[in-house]
Amino acid sequence: MDEPALGLDSRARQLAELQERRFDLLVVGGGIIGAGIAEAASAHGLAVALVDKGDFGCATSTASSKLIHGGLRYLRLGDVRLVREAHKERRVLMRVVAPHLVRRLPFLFPLYEGGPYRPWLVQSGILLYSTLARARLNGPVAITRARRLVPRLRTKALRSCALYADAVTNDGRLTIANVRAAAQSGATVLNYAEVVALRGEEGAELVAGGETIRVSARAVVNAGGPWVDHVRRLEDPSAAPSVRLSKGVHVLVDQGAEWSAALTIPHDKVRVSFAVPWEGMLLLGTTDTLHDDPSELTVTDVDVDQVLREASVAVEGLARDDVRATFAGLRVLPIGAGATETARRETVYSRGRSGMVSIAGGKLTTYRRIALDALEHLRADLGLHHIDRRPRPLPGAAGLDRVPFPDGLPAEVRLHLLHLYGSLAAEVLAPAAEDGTLLEPLVPGRPDLVAQALYARTHEWAVTDEDVLRRRTTAWLGGPAEAT
Ligand SMILES: Cc1cc2nc3c(=O)[nH]c(=O)nc-3n(C[C@H](O)[C@H](O)[C@H](O)COP(=O)(O)OP(=O)(O)OC[C@H]3O[C@@H](n4cnc5c(N)ncnc54)[C@H](O)[C@@H]3O)c2cc1C
Repeated sequence: MDEPALGLDSRARQLAELQERRFDLLVVGGGIIGAGIAEAASAHGLAVALVDKGDFGCATSTASSKLIHGGLRYLRLGDVRLVREAHKERRVLMRVVAPHLVRRLPFLFPLYEGGPYRPWLVQSGILLYSTLARARLNGPVAITRARRLVPRLRTKALRSCALYADAVTNDGRLTIANVRAAAQSGATVLNYAEVVALRGEEGAELVAGGETIRVSARAVVNAGGPWVDHVRRLEDPSAAPSVRLSKGVHVLVDQGAEWSAALTIPHDKVRVSFAVPWEGMLLLGTTDTLHDDPSELTVTDVDVDQVLREASVAVEGLARDDVRATFAGLRVLPIGAGATETARRETVYSRGRSGMVSIAGGKLTTYRRIALDALEHLRADLGLHHIDRRPRPLPGAAGLDRVPFPDGLPAEVRLHLLHLYGSLAAEVLAPAAEDGTLLEPLVPGRPDLVAQALYARTHEWAVTDEDVLRRRTTAWLGGPAEAT
């Protein structure tokens, strides 16, 4: 396998390649969808360029609820097909594609007096959901057991609880793993490279490091996420808006290490919020409010208050002082008049006047399927005879039980490294054989090591400290409270 990009000289090399190679496909946007498309296209032997105007995964793909799920809520909206598809993808990701990154997690659904649902309705919904999931875990659970799974569960006025299974991931690392897979199959990948003009057969112009360069590609795919319409207008300034955006805010609090299940908290007949044990913390959210400019995204006090208030329906003792971090992301919803919370979470593919395929909407869970469907849309342009839909393990997904660790490395750190890198953990730790300081903690109170910071810059295209702390490691969770 080819080594991925390494260090600053490699950025220069990637820039040179972008100018010199004739690509089959230019992918605009390195979130999970763009990275997934680059992975799939390069695995099909195509010459692929993948660029992002910020870091890979810097936008929505590190601001999700981290769930790899069928979406219980979508059943309520009558979207059985979406739920079945998503469950299928969840199984494939857990078993083949990224078993280290996608892990099964029980979800507890508490029902309080005066709540929006009758217990029998929830139980039958969960039975259908679990049948679609092919999961055995479903049904009612005693409150004493529920309290063991979720130690801070509010039990006052609790009528009953139901249990079902889904999965959770580290969305940023899943994105990087796809970028890496694409690079290993020969793609040229570059972050901090913004596409600023699309000129049909004359190619695209992008700006990287203050330099403007021209990239030549037979086909272009727009995976710009919340900027999908901005990128469409680079091809056709008169393109009408195709999507609307909805802001979702999450709050991370100092709890969760002792939780062995997540909570799904119903608020009305459609909306639920989640409390999910994630990377040793508790992730709470999310909100759903219409939003205009994707480049202006902030978390307000009102957002944080809403998230804490809604979580407090089922979680005891939440206080503002517990908040360690907050973040916001934008859902991309097909344009329409209805409320954002009832809008279908579907993916819309469209073609521009010079043939660019734009992808709007979709879920992290179904990224692989969306990527393959995007290739189907580009099949004729790319001369692809056959699209192989079989799942491929991402780098690090195989050999998880044979990873050698240095003696004395705490079990908690081993598990953390296995989770983030899979069998590539050995590669992360290799330089520590020469330099023991690399085994020191990257920040106090987190299991991340200095070796990971080095690896992020040498093997994972990290350019800034934030790329390292926030998207390659979990070190940012050890820092002071902050918002993006
Ligand atoms: C609050 C919230 C919670 C969610 N929770 C879940 C969940 O639990 N489970 C689930 O399955 N899904 C979830 N989703 C959905 C999921 O996160 C998204 O579907 C997914 O991350 C979208 O990925 P993307 O690649 O399309 O977009 P993004 O990750 O936003 O990537 C788009 C990229 O394009 C780049 N870009 C834009 N313009 C240019 C340009 N001109 N040149 C170069 N690059 C450009 C941007 O910098 C950006 O990195 C959630 C979404 C939100 C908002």
